[in-house]
Amino acid sequence: MNIYYKCKHCHVPIGKIGVDSVNTVNLGFEDLSELERQEYLSYDEEGHLHVTSICEDCYEMLIKHPDYHALDTFIQ
Ligand SMILES: [Zn+2]
Repeated sequence: MNIYYKCKHCHVPIGKIGVDSVNTVNLGFEDLSELERQEYLSYDEEGHLHVTSICEDCYEMLIKHPDYHALDTFIQ
């Protein structure tokens, strides 16, 4: 299976990791609450894991303009 990372703000694909099996313990997801898992993690019909994250561009934007954090999207 693959793990796909996508930016929650601009929806740009950030990266893809191929893994032999789902071992979320090694991916840091154990720190997420159940609600956060539901919000940030999803599986598609082929069993691939999709992770909602944030890309470097949006991260820098949030650092410079923290107010944008309240907006769902700020595509320019
Ligand atoms: Zn982004």
